[in-house]
Amino acid sequence: MTEKGLCIVVSAPSGSGKSTICRRLLAACPDMEFSVSFTSRPPRPNEIDGKDYHFVSREDFQRRIERGEFVEWVENYGEFYGTSGRALQDLLRRGKDLLLDIEPRGAKEMKKKFQEGVFVFVLPPSLDELLKRLQKRGHETPEAIQKRFAQAASELEEVLWYDYAVMNDDLDTAVGQLIAIYRAEKCRTSRLLGAINHLCSSIKKEV
Ligand code: 5GP
Repeated sequence: MTEKGLCIVVSAPSGSGKSTICRRLLAACPDMEFSVSFTSRPPRPNEIDGKDYHFVSREDFQRRIERGEFVEWVENYGEFYGTSGRALQDLLRRGKDLLLDIEPRGAKEMKKKFQEGVFVFVLPPSLDELLKRLQKRGHETPEAIQKRFAQAASELEEVLWYDYAVMNDDLDTAVGQLIAIYRAEKCRTSRLLGAINHLCSSIKKEV
C-alpha cells in the first residue's frame, strides 16, 4: 500500500538562502519533488518555465483564481503566486513527498487545509546579514531591495506558528537540519499506518 506523500512547506524572508537550501534538500532526497508554483512575474535569467515556476500572464492567473485552481495564492510585490490544488493532491496521493517554497501568508492558508503538512521557517543569522545577501544578489534596484528587506523583517514575526525553525548561519548545517526534519517526519507513526496495519495483520495470521 502506498502511504500518502509528505508535504514540507518552507518559508523564509527573501535573502535567507532558502532557494539554495531547498535545492540541496531536493538533491539529497530523490523521493522528494519540488512543487512548481504558478506566477505572473516574468522569469529571471536561468529560470526555466515548468521547472522553477509555471510562468503565466496576470490574466491567465486571474482566470485560474476564478476557476478555484489554487489551494492558496497571494499577491506579493505586485505579482501573483499560487499553488495548484490538483497537482498537489495528485502527487501526494501517488505517495510523492513534496517541497513547497512559499511565503508565510500562503503557508498559513496551507496549514488550515493540510494539518498533516510540515512547516519550516528558514531564519537569516541577522538582519544585517539579510540586507547584505539581498544586495549581493544584484538583480534588483535599491528600491526593490528596500521593499524586500522591509517585508522580510515583518515576515520574521511569523516564525512562531511554524513547526520548525532552521537558522541559515552555515549552509551545510542548515541543509543537514532540514534533511533531519524530513527524515524524522517520515518516521512518524501516523504516517506509517498502512505499513503498521499490514504488519499487525500478518502477525495475527502467524499466531
Ligand atoms: P520570487 O519572486 O523571489 O521567486 O518569490 C517571492 C516569494 O514568493 C518567495 O518568498 C516565495 O517563497 C514566494 N512564493 C513562490 N511561490 C509561491 C506560491 O505558490 N504561493 C505563495 N504564497 N508564495 C509563493
